[in-house]
Amino acid sequence: MSEKSGIVILGIFAADTAYKAKRLPHIAETLMGSGFTLGPGGKGSNQAIAAAKAGGKVTFISRVGNDPFGEMALAAYAAAGVKANVMKMDGVSSGAAFIFVDEVTGDNAIIVAPGAAGLIGIEDVDANRAEIESAAIFMTQLEQPLEAAIHGLSMAKRAGATTIFNPAPARAIPDNIYGLCDFIVPNEVEAAELVGHAIATDEEVRAAGRTLLDRGAGAVIITLGARGAFYHTAGQSEFVPAFSAGDVVDTTGAGDAFLGGFATAISEGQEPIEALRFGCATAAIAVTRPGTAPAMPSRAEISALLG
Ligand code: ATP
Repeated sequence: MSEKSGIVILGIFAADTAYKAKRLPHIAETLMGSGFTLGPGGKGSNQAIAAAKAGGKVTFISRVGNDPFGEMALAAYAAAGVKANVMKMDGVSSGAAFIFVDEVTGDNAIIVAPGAAGLIGIEDVDANRAEIESAAIFMTQLEQPLEAAIHGLSMAKRAGATTIFNPAPARAIPDNIYGLCDFIVPNEVEAAELVGHAIATDEEVRAAGRTLLDRGAGAVIITLGARGAFYHTAGQSEFVPAFSAGDVVDTTGAGDAFLGGFATAISEGQEPIEALRFGCATAAIAVTRPGTAPAMPSRAEISALLG
């Protein structure tokens, strides 16, 4: 029997529709904009595309509507080589994010309507039991309902898969989730929400790592933007610096790029610290390009940066 290598990701798809203008509009005002972009988004969806482009064998579990945004999602998975176990639902829209961008300050305001992906439940996990139980890696986040994430992590953990949990966006989570995570991977904002104190200095990062490990996670990775990432487990505690792959153009989706690359490296049997470097390299390339899913690099590009 061949060794397990598949990566199963549960999460949402949302079409990112971004509108640029000189400032954000006031209530009841119509403002002429200066630009519009449309692209596939949603943390789980971005992570699936990043992992597949990095060379992983990826299955993505989600839901979309029977509409043009849903078609866009399925086309993106086909192009990236992601196996889409994605339910197409009638009578409900695909997830969509309405993003206002102030072109002067870079500030934004976002409404995410998860649509079909907001209906993801434990039945989606049950319907994919065979795939989850035979996977090397199961990864999920917090954009879809929490009970689906917990059910997926429990099923995967019981079957012996490596579980990766990205507690994003920031919110409180029950304590019993930590023991289901081989790796818990928050960014600084999410880690601060979980531990209840600011994460700015190296000592605060270390303290957060200790707290999350004490709650039962197998290992803790805190991503630190341009500073890189921090790895903490029982026997090892290490800061890994970010890579530089050129001028930084758009850091949106950096966390998703990191997670996709990290999951692929772990699925290939790389040691966690090597996998973390692989994730940092993946993200370093993604931030030199606009957009999220379209910015994810190929394996050849990641290997070239790692040298
Ligand atoms: P986002 O919410 O924008 O998708 P995030 O806040 O979840 O991102 P970050 O911690 O900002 O995630 O970034 C994830 C990883 O991406 C970092 O650990 C780092 O390796 C890489 N990264 C982020 N910003 C930069 C940068 N400016 N230059 C190089 N690498 C970066």
